[in-house]
Amino acid sequence: MADCVFCKIAAGEIPADKVYEDGGVVAFRDISPQAPTHIIIIPRAHIESAADISEDSAHLAAECFAAIARIAKSERLEGGFRVITNAGADAGQTVGHLHFHLLGGVKMGEGLI
Ligand code: AMP
Ligand code: ZN
Repeated sequence: MADCVFCKIAAGEIPADKVYEDGGVVAFRDISPQAPTHIIIIPRAHIESAADISEDSAHLAAECFAAIARIAKSERLEGGFRVITNAGADAGQTVGHLHFHLLGGVKMGEGLI
């Protein structure tokens, strides 16, 4: 997608603090972190949001979660972590490329799961 900031990060066209990448997944530190560890995990393929995952593309979400488990170990989040994905306007999604927020490094409260 020509105007998608996360597609551009995946392609290396704009800089990001990448912590992991493989053939299908890229992960980088959020530019505006909301926890001591705040990493964005994306499939390289452009999917708008979790609302657009199909049977054909579900494996990309699974690959993201495999990466999340690896990153949680490399970031030493042994105490636990939270994964969030915002889908659509009501959830406050601001970047229209499926992504998962990996949040950790702090004891999180019970609000919003
Ligand atoms: P969401 O509100 O779920 O769509 O989250 C989008 C996230 O992407 C926000 O937490 C932003 O801080 C983050 N973000 C936007 N642009 C960049 C960027 N160029 N590099 C890293 N993180 C970004
Ligand atoms: Zn994209």
